Amino acid sequence: MNFCSQCGGQIERRVPAGDNRERDVCPQCGFIHYQNPKVIVGCLPVYQNKVLLCRRAIDPRYGLWTLPAGFMELGETTWQGAERETWEEARAKVSNLELYSVFNLPHIGQVYCIFRSELEKPEFAPGEESLEVALFEEEEIPWDELAFMTISRTLKHYFEDRKSGDFPVRMEDIEPSVKPKC
Ligand SMILES: [Zn+2]
Repeated sequence: MNFCSQCGGQIERRVPAGDNRERDVCPQCGFIHYQNPKVIVGCLPVYQNKVLLCRRAIDPRYGLWTLPAGFMELGETTWQGAERETWEEARAKVSNLELYSVFNLPHIGQVYCIFRSELEKPEFAPGEESLEVALFEEEEIPWDELAFMTISRTLKHYFEDRKSGDFPVRMEDIEPSVKPKC
């Protein structure tokens, strides 16, 4: 950030009084431009034995498969965001959301929250950010064409936990050194 969004003044990088790390500070109006991690919310929609995946129509990872997920908006809860993203990307209605995976990605300042959810009916269609949306049995999952490690980890856990029917919340840290494949 170079200029203050409040007054247009030149931003300086410094530690504000009472703080312990450098921030973008506007010496002109005194505004401190805090930057904090972003939350990504999404669903693992399940219909009978199948899970719903979307093929991305946008970069990054154009053409690869993912779960419907995206940045949380102001004014909504995590579940509302997950439901909204599922509607926007897969034109699918989900219910009975249960928090399932939480990923910390400190190197890019992101936190993922993925909810297991029930797809009410096998009705879905690609939204604007998807090329294609489809239901997959476990054996049909395109493991080599998944867009993000958060997605492959979530699916791995899901199929593992499904054997016992017990789905504890899975929380993991994802570091940049780890290859983006499972
Ligand atoms: Zn300013």
